[in-house]
Amino acid sequence: MSYDPSNIFGKILRGEIPAHKVYEDDTALVMMDIFPQSRGHTLIIPKSPSRNLLDADPSALAAVIPLVQKVANAVKAATNADGIRVAQFNEAPAGQTVFHLHFHVIPAYEGVALGTHGAGQADDTELAALAKDIAGRL
Ligand code: 5GP
Repeated sequence: MSYDPSNIFGKILRGEIPAHKVYEDDTALVMMDIFPQSRGHTLIIPKSPSRNLLDADPSALAAVIPLVQKVANAVKAATNADGIRVAQFNEAPAGQTVFHLHFHVIPAYEGVALGTHGAGQADDTELAALAKDIAGRL
């Protein structure tokens, strides 16, 4: 299957719909997930168009992983999480719902089960505060 630019992350990258942005440069956008699995759930989206990891340009992957690491550390510091899960899904049977490559950084808190993937929507004010806090630690 080929990349379809009408996906929701494509729209966010083009500025057609808003997002709680944490960071942006020429190669990637970092934003809060609006249906977080835990407090501080953040997404790293390479700008180069691909459906997922399977069709991505290896140079885009090489560029984004250091940013994933940086964001994971900033999210951990901002949320005081006890651990960080990094997740990435390829095609619908594997759990992918938005078909533009992205990496999830999901804080894990001791004794707290992670929420369902893409379930309840988070409070806008809380997401804005988290985005600002994480951005300040990058
Ligand atoms: P996937 O299932 O494709 O790996 O992950 C897509 C993620 O995007 C889900 O965690 C979902 O909560 C999140 N998401 C879906 N729509 C939006 C949106 O409009 N804005 C933001 N910030 N996240 C979204």
